[in-house]
Amino acid sequence: MTISKDKIVEAVIQISEEIKKNKQYLTDLDAAIGDGDHGINMARGFEAVESKIEEVKSKDIGSILKTTGMTLVSFVGGASGPLYGTAFMKAGQVVPGKYEINAQDIINMMAAAVDGIKQRGKAEVGEKTMLDVIIPSMEAYKKAISEGKNIKQAFELAYEEAQVALEKTKLLVAKKGRASYLGERSLGFQDPGATSALIIFGVLKSI
Ligand code: ADP
Ligand code: MG
Repeated sequence: MTISKDKIVEAVIQISEEIKKNKQYLTDLDAAIGDGDHGINMARGFEAVESKIEEVKSKDIGSILKTTGMTLVSFVGGASGPLYGTAFMKAGQVVPGKYEINAQDIINMMAAAVDGIKQRGKAEVGEKTMLDVIIPSMEAYKKAISEGKNIKQAFELAYEEAQVALEKTKLLVAKKGRASYLGERSLGFQDPGATSALIIFGVLKSI
């Protein structure tokens, strides 16, 4: 099983739609422990991505993801723009010139995205950030592939893990970003960036 360039374009557009639909929800989550702009930031970024993708949709997957990432970096204010932007750019860098990707390419792309987020934001697992959904979901995907599941099944399992992991962010004290200013008072709240990561995995399971 492979994923075509057209499917990637569709997925990016679908992610944009889902983020826009969830703009208020993400903003409300951020209002509780941050500055109430996560939904606004993400919707603005993906709105820009949707118009930009028209110009590059016939190119290879690497170029499409690079443009997606660069657009997010330049249009999204706040911490999440550069972080998600870096993630998409890094994912694109490991599949240069490809019009089709396989299960292993996807593992490499997720690993590169995670490395990029870590480098840029200096966060680790357990600090109540987007990484607390992305890393366990990536691990679930990898495990599924190593057990012989196909890409679709692996993404379904990654999404199930993402849901569990998102819930667990409520038990974490924020150590990075604005929510860290609250210290212990960030306990009990679901992380906004981890929530947008769940939304992204929700789209990936349906490509
Ligand atoms: P800002 O915090 O600048 O207002 P957003 O509200 O758009 O930016 O995004 C906040 C989200 O970004 C957090 O919920 C968290 O998941 C994520 N985040 C913040 N700092 C980091 C970091 N250093 N590493 C990884 N993710 C981070
Ligand atoms: Mg914010």
